[in-house]
Amino acid sequence: MITAIKDFSKLCLHTMTTRPWTIEECIRNYSEAGIHGITIWRNAIENVNLKRVKTLLDDSGMDVVSLCRGGFFPSVNAMKRQAAIDDNLFAIEQAEALGAPLIVLVCGADKEQSLEKSRDQIHEGILRILPTAQQAGVKLAIEPLHPMYAGDRSAINTIKQANDMAEQINSPWTGVAVDVYHLWWDPELREEIDRCALNRHLFAFHICDWKVPTIDFLNDRGLMGEGCINIPVIRSWIESTGFTGYNEVEIFSNIHWGEDQFAYIGKIKQAYLTKT
Ligand code: ZN
Repeated sequence: MITAIKDFSKLCLHTMTTRPWTIEECIRNYSEAGIHGITIWRNAIENVNLKRVKTLLDDSGMDVVSLCRGGFFPSVNAMKRQAAIDDNLFAIEQAEALGAPLIVLVCGADKEQSLEKSRDQIHEGILRILPTAQQAGVKLAIEPLHPMYAGDRSAINTIKQANDMAEQINSPWTGVAVDVYHLWWDPELREEIDRCALNRHLFAFHICDWKVPTIDFLNDRGLMGEGCINIPVIRSWIESTGFTGYNEVEIFSNIHWGEDQFAYIGKIKQAYLTKT
């Protein structure tokens, strides 16, 4: 077993984790806290001058890990499917402007059709945006979501399904994002992480915790150590594959958004050192 590096050099925060902050505040405050990895959520850059953000990122020594999120390809409605393609192409432009090497795909689902049909449309959607992504130098990561989201957010619910799709697409520009919140329960997780890495498809690693009980399906994620996920073990599986990317803290939490965000960053750093 590889011993995890216990410093902040591989710590990345998702801007959604500190949702009360603007993109400028995220950049400045993460940097001052000694955290130099950032994954930017698109809600944080709506109506914002991306050139100015890019300059601020560079001046603050920030490393943009990814842009969240693209995807939402499936729909029974062809116009909506086309609108999703257009939105993903726009996301690729945004990623390029920010210097983000990766877009995370929350792939989508439509309750009006079968999961199989939705998966076909996800596959088709990725193929349509892939040439543009490649041209822009932006990779695409399929993020499998916990099955509780199969009705509306993603028809890809296991790492095996994500690996299958990445293998079918068979491009160095399409891979998988592993998020412990979505995948911790899966008895095949370790072997599928190994399979993912073996195919060079392991693009990102997201961490937080699963609270018991969880009181909100979307916005009650826990800080590492607040729940039941054995993050150190999963992180060791990830790192034993040779993965050298960031550990990305992605926490949607009404509770933590209500706290003083500076104090919260301190808690995140502490939890990162002791609980991951
Ligand atoms: Zn995630």
